[in-house]
Amino acid sequence: MKQKLLEMEQYANENDVPIIEKDTIVYIMKLIKEHKIKKILEIGSAIGYSTILMASSDEDVYVTTIERDETRYMECLKNVKACGLDQKINVVFQDALEVNLPNDNKYDLIFIDAAKGQNINFFEKFKYFLNDGGYIITDNLNFHGYVGKSDTIESKNLRALVRKIEEYIEFLKANSEFDTEFLNIGDGISVSKKKDEK
Ligand code: SAH
Ligand code: MG
Repeated sequence: MKQKLLEMEQYANENDVPIIEKDTIVYIMKLIKEHKIKKILEIGSAIGYSTILMASSDEDVYVTTIERDETRYMECLKNVKACGLDQKINVVFQDALEVNLPNDNKYDLIFIDAAKGQNINFFEKFKYFLNDGGYIITDNLNFHGYVGKSDTIESKNLRALVRKIEEYIEFLKANSEFDTEFLNIGDGISVSKKKDEK
């Protein structure tokens, strides 16, 4: 599996696939173990790199991951098989905003790592699938250092995207159902913990 992961890193590098940073996946794998997380939902599989590492972080960890790009989905399936993890990982080929998950599917961790302008929509849609005390982690909240500096960005598209991430951060800070920590790990993540229902 180590060799396979190296090959995936190389593929990602050559094909501009934005896979998770080392520090971030190390943090997530530790969280999975510490909190005995069993069921994970990932939005944005790409080629399966973070999926495979999360699924292999502990026994009895199962991951459902959603990818809308066909080439990446196919690549992800191939990699999951090659690592012998097809019993632990379910790869769904669909736009996450259109997917219909069974209502009784509940997850201990939801990892949002897809279109960066859609974070609020993903959060609002999938929070219903989180167990009490579960976590929602969102990646790339620094967006390569642009976040917090949107006013100085010349490119209109990039500025709009970075503004969306800034809005998402405000949305999380104001959210009373979740307590959120912002960590300067990798490209920046948020760790939102659902408050227990009283
Ligand atoms: N989690 C991966 C990287 C994901 S990159 C890793 O760290 O290894 C982000 C991926 O999200 C891209 O492959 C993109 O195609 C996918 N994506 C973006 N918007 C999506 C959506 N609405 N539904 C499903 N996948 C989406
Ligand atoms: Mg990412």
